[in-house]
Amino acid sequence: MRSSRYFLPTLKETPADAQIASHRLMLRAGMIRQGAAGIYSWLPMGLKVLRKIEQIVREEQDAAGAQEVLMPTIQAADLWVESGRYDDYGDEMLRIEDRHGRKMLYGPTNEEMITDIFRKEIKSYRDLPKNLYHIQWKFRDERRPRFGVMRGREFLMKDAYSFDLTAEDGQKSYNAMFVAYLRTFARLGLKAIPMRADTGPIGGDLSHEFIVLAETGESEVFFDKAFDGLDPMVEAAAGADLQPIVDEWTSHYAATDEIHDADNCPVDAGNLITGRGIEVGHIFFFGEKYSKPMNATVQGPDGDTVPVQMGSYGVGVSRLVGAIIEACHDENGIVWPEAVAPFKVGLMNLRAKDEECTAACDKLYQQLTAAGIEVLYDDTDTGAGAKFANMDLIGLPYQLAVGPRGLKNGVVEVKDRKSGEKLELTPEEAIAKLT
Ligand code: ATP
Ligand code: MG
Ligand code: MG
Ligand code: MG
Repeated sequence: MRSSRYFLPTLKETPADAQIASHRLMLRAGMIRQGAAGIYSWLPMGLKVLRKIEQIVREEQDAAGAQEVLMPTIQAADLWVESGRYDDYGDEMLRIEDRHGRKMLYGPTNEEMITDIFRKEIKSYRDLPKNLYHIQWKFRDERRPRFGVMRGREFLMKDAYSFDLTAEDGQKSYNAMFVAYLRTFARLGLKAIPMRADTGPIGGDLSHEFIVLAETGESEVFFDKAFDGLDPMVEAAAGADLQPIVDEWTSHYAATDEIHDADNCPVDAGNLITGRGIEVGHIFFFGEKYSKPMNATVQGPDGDTVPVQMGSYGVGVSRLVGAIIEACHDENGIVWPEAVAPFKVGLMNLRAKDEECTAACDKLYQQLTAAGIEVLYDDTDTGAGAKFANMDLIGLPYQLAVGPRGLKNGVVEVKDRKSGEKLELTPEEAIAKLT
């Protein structure tokens, strides 16, 4: 992509109303623009990152055996009346009436809708287990939308729903999602710790929140430093028993302020880490909470009719964009982990009016692109200083600077955005390093 054509409205000034780094940087890097409180448009570079995160989430859901569907954003109120949540959900639910006076709502989550789909189609235990997920926009009329996409009103969530015959099988489905979450957040370059959670309005017995540590996080967190020694990139053969892995990850103490009790904490002060964190995922096993009132039953092996055992599993896909920036930035801008970077390389023509320089850049651009590397090519004729500052701001993993002085000596400069390390390389060496 050439900067001269790209819609990347970066800002030099820090927006006054943005309180935390990720919000400021997303605005400054031209990733999002606000439409109304907590409601954002995603501009090309922001959307690219959002899609990359979404894809990693999708790959790990698919690998864990979940199947993708796509449910609508607007739901009929009837199903929520059936589950009892139409009244319970309160002011966070955006309620709408259509032209016929039917009560509708903008979905804040999809337990009711997926349970309805399930109960109409699946009648036998032979069709279990099933895990269905979608990646769809949600709306919650948050009392205090803030921190940009971190607490939006409209936000993108991956939500999966599992259906099993027995509670033991339900635990297996839960374990599969637990491990998928460990892997997903690790692939996104994040350190996320599963913490025992209150089950809240969704209800049920077993629940973990996945929390990324960040000073600007909204929850206070407490956890055993033993988590430092665990590797989240769990490799498990298909069908393997995941219980030992889940047991290992849940044997150490970790809790948010909602349930942490300083007087009854099992970890001694020397091993307890206290900090702040961002909730990026939340998994629940809630058994019959929806299947019973909504009559989602199957015929069991003995011919008896039983309500299915359900769980639900959310990931805050759009919140993750902010969470990754909170974890990965410095005073000059964003520092993208390679897995979600909008482009891998930022190529800068330091003298766009110089023919030789432009020819060298065009060639590098063509070669890198042909090798499948995503390149943002700053081919504009703004000054070198502004180009470097802009590249630092948008945080691409590698910067490739080409200027007449270097070319005279046959070299270009490759900078690693994260370490700041700079190398003078021949164009061929630069290509080899970046591909
Ligand atoms: P929070 O405690 O932050 O309000 P929640 O517990 O209400 O979140 P869940 O119902 O568990 O949220 O939804 C699953 C995931 O969706 C959360 O873990 C979070 O990552 C994301 N999420 C929830 N609310 C928002 C929001 N307002 N903006 C962006 N992401 C959100
Ligand atoms: Mg909430
Ligand atoms: Mg929460
Ligand atoms: Mg939650």
